[in-house]
Formats: sequence, C-alpha cells, structure tokens
Amino acid sequence: MATYTTRLFALAATVLLLSEALPGAAATGKPEYSIEAIRYGTIAGFPVSALVMGAPKDEKTDIAMVVWLIRGGGRTILFDTGFHREAWLKQFPTADYLRPDEAVKLAGVKPEDVTDVIISHAHWDHMGGIDLFPKATVWIQRQEFAYYTGDAWQPGGRHGGIDPEDLKALVQRNTEGRLRLVDGDDVEILPGIRAYTGARHTFASQYIRVEGNPSFVLASDNCYLYRNLAEHKASATFSEADQPGNIKNQERMIALAGSADRVVPGHDPRQFERFPTQGRIARIR
Ligand SMILES: [Zn+2]
Repeated sequence: MATYTTRLFALAATVLLLSEALPGAAATGKPEYSIEAIRYGTIAGFPVSALVMGAPKDEKTDIAMVVWLIRGGGRTILFDTGFHREAWLKQFPTADYLRPDEAVKLAGVKPEDVTDVIISHAHWDHMGGIDLFPKATVWIQRQEFAYYTGDAWQPGGRHGGIDPEDLKALVQRNTEGRLRLVDGDDVEILPGIRAYTGARHTFASQYIRVEGNPSFVLASDNCYLYRNLAEHKASATFSEADQPGNIKNQERMIALAGSADRVVPGHDPRQFERFPTQGRIARIR
C-alpha cells in the first residue's frame, strides 16, 4: 500500500512537472488556445432589422466580415472561412476586401498550414472560403451537411444564402477523407473546443466554446451583434418559430462564456474595439 501511495505521488509530481514544462498547456492538459478575429472586409449600410429582429426598418449599420483564428496544441484552426466568389462580391460590395487566405497571412499563417476549419453554418460568407484552405479538415454539423446537400434543393426546401459551388467543395472534401460530421449539441470536437446547436440560424448552425482562462464563445451568426445580447433580440433564424430558441441560446452562450463580454458576435465591428487590435486583427485571447 505504501509503495502504491508513493508511486501515486511520484506520478502526480511527474504530471505537474510535465504540465509546467509544456508552454500554453492548461492544468487540464488541454491547450490554452490563442483566439484572434481577423477582419477581411466591411459591408456598409446593412439593415439592422435583418440582424436584430424587431429593430427599426430604416436603421442601417456597417458590419464586419470576420474569420476567427484559434491556435494551440499544434493546431491552426479557423472558425469560418469568409468568401471569395465574384457573384457575392457583386451582390454585397465589400469595402477593404482582402481574400481570407491573404488575410490570415497577416497573422503569420500560411493557408496550407491551417489544420482544421470549423464551419458555423453553410451561408456564403462563412463557408465560401473552404477551398482556400486546401489541407484543412472541415468540421460541420451532420444535419447541416445532410440538409444543404439534400432536402434544401427539393420542393419546399430552403437554400437562401447557400452557394452550390461551396457545397461542391464541401462534398469533395468529404470524398477526400477530410470532412468530419459533428453529431449535434454539446460535443467536444477538438481538445477544449465544444460545439453547440439550438440557435438555428440555418438548418443546423453551430457555435463554439473555446475553453481556457477565461473561456470564450464564438457565436458566428447565431448572434450577429452585441446588441442582440443586450436587448435579448433574436438573430435571423431558419424559421420564425426558431426565434425563442435563438434567444435562449444567447443566454446559454453567456453562461458558457461566464460573461456577456466573452461572447463574440458574428458581424459586430465592435469586437475590433473591445479587444486589443492592430490593423485587421483583434487579439481576443
Ligand atoms: Zn454572416
């Protein structure tokens, strides 16, 4: 028994030493990821009523177009990929546009070095850049994948804001063995990074919590602006019936982050004011 206890102490001491020796490793053994928001453009004069349900019809705002870079534990992860196709640039003229693969270089990341891409949802401005990161494994909700490669294009299906070219790239990634389908709510997809559903911006949109000191929630379009959180107003949802679920999930995001200040909305330019920012890059953590 004494030997066993001694061994146990020795083991604990070794674990402690190891965790101290590894830079950036949290006590849990999970990476202490850095999180950066990278702004690849701005769409001016966007109607607020399309972002915050119930906002005055004539109110406009400038929205930030963003990808989030998460680094740690030997991984270079992008949450969302922005877009690059001409048709969308024409439809949504984007000021200060920089193609997302060029934008990540400003943070010192080569596009081929991105190991993982987590897609919040299939809309053009979030999934439209997956082909710019050729070596990445793409993570998307199983139901989002199933719906937008299937029923969305059947009679009665909905595919507003979905680009067929992006879906081709997504299916190709699957046939290449570099697509991972995430099964629903509260799933750890990478060490310390959990995916959540229920906000239903699209058929099965997801948001993520990046664990650490402190933890952050990256909401993407499940919460467009800080104003959604402050006013308890829904983001645009898949159907009107999903709006209470969206508001409930915004409350959940705050709980998961431990503070409303640590929920990062999808298109709010103020994330580049609230966090230390140089040029296009805000250092969230
Ligand atoms: Zn968006």
